[in-house]
Amino acid sequence: MALRIFGSPRRYVQGPGAIDQLGIEARSYGPSPVLVGDAHVITMLGDRLRGLCEDEGLSPLCLTLEGEITRPAIARLEDALGEQDASLVIGVGGGKSLDAAKALAVRLEKPVFTVPTIASNDSPTSAAIAMYDDNHVMIAVDRMEANPDLVLVDTALIAQAPVTFLLAGIGDAISKKFEADGCQAGSGVTPFGTRPLLTAIAIADCCYRTIRQHGMAAVAACKRKEVTPELEAVVEAAVLMSGLGFENGGLSLAHSLTRGIVKTRDAMNAIHGYQIAWALLVQWAAEERADDDILDLMAFYREIGLPASLPELGMKDPSEREIDQMAEWTMVAPHLANLDRPVDPAMLAGAIRRVETLAGEEAR
Ligand SMILES: [Zn+2]
Repeated sequence: MALRIFGSPRRYVQGPGAIDQLGIEARSYGPSPVLVGDAHVITMLGDRLRGLCEDEGLSPLCLTLEGEITRPAIARLEDALGEQDASLVIGVGGGKSLDAAKALAVRLEKPVFTVPTIASNDSPTSAAIAMYDDNHVMIAVDRMEANPDLVLVDTALIAQAPVTFLLAGIGDAISKKFEADGCQAGSGVTPFGTRPLLTAIAIADCCYRTIRQHGMAAVAACKRKEVTPELEAVVEAAVLMSGLGFENGGLSLAHSLTRGIVKTRDAMNAIHGYQIAWALLVQWAAEERADDDILDLMAFYREIGLPASLPELGMKDPSEREIDQMAEWTMVAPHLANLDRPVDPAMLAGAIRRVETLAGEEAR
């Protein structure tokens, strides 16, 4: 029998004021944690985080990530550390800061904590590291040997962030049930290299139901900058369930489509979670789901504020040629086997066209 592997963070802590636990959580790892964040986050939170560590007798060091997350940028962080000892790396901020901390932790062979200040994707929970080149093009997804030791999610911080980020997190999370189901139905494997686990299928299903049930109220709470039970539920879905769902359940056509979207005029500039929300509609169309189901999901997107068509993703008047090209570019994705049917460019272009046509109908 083939092996099945379940990977997850060692510990997950979420709630308003959760960040105050940082020093206590870091204490047992040694005296010298290294904080990594971009300039904005370090300015906003650096002193507070340093203070929390110092209160526990630790001597923290702050490193600032400049620009894109590239291999030279990670080497520069390591150089900035010099001869100083690091007992633990703590990433603070958005996906880029967290991935930089993960990459530094890999180089230093130290454990990592993730402290997301926005809930825009599943990066805090996952072992994946998205690497870019200086032209902002993703060149590789590296992986840590293990997931973060701690994911520390302060919902009071997340409620203060622009609602766009929460919406992106919802978009990145809402597809996970259908991607794990697709992986299960197809012949693909998870990022751990095994067939999807039933546990992940259940988590991804709960992720989807949580978003459909509480998404609207969570977005409204975030607009009021207020922490409510619904916001807590949706942040848990966007950060924890979303990450556990894909790493242990696998990805499918929705995430595959980003390979094409990131090369496509205008749509390339949309935030990842918005791209995934639209791409899930295409996955549903490719799976030949009923028009009514697709229209229902589109109506939810439009109510909550997610894109249901290419123009809503920022790409006005997509041409036939551009749609064919996007389908063609998608074919390099490694998750295409994770669907209940074979995918080819013509079938995929047909699915994109079906979504665009239905989006026009739903809008009327
Ligand atoms: Zn994603």
